[in-house]
Amino acid sequence: MSEYIKGAEPDRWHWMKECKQYPRVVIERRLKRPSSDLCDECLDLEKIKLRKIAAM
Ligand SMILES: [Zn+2]
Repeated sequence: MSEYIKGAEPDRWHWMKECKQYPRVVIERRLKRPSSDLCDECLDLEKIKLRKIAAM
């Protein structure tokens, strides 16, 4: 399961390590998916990953 992390403000929640905006310094972390403030790039990366899994 992914861990959701947030860097220094103003940051959003990241959970894909491939994300270019993945914070180096973690200020906050949680295991449950936050309902808002999700990183757009992480969402895109997640879609690509899920598509790959579905294609296998
Ligand atoms: Zn991200």
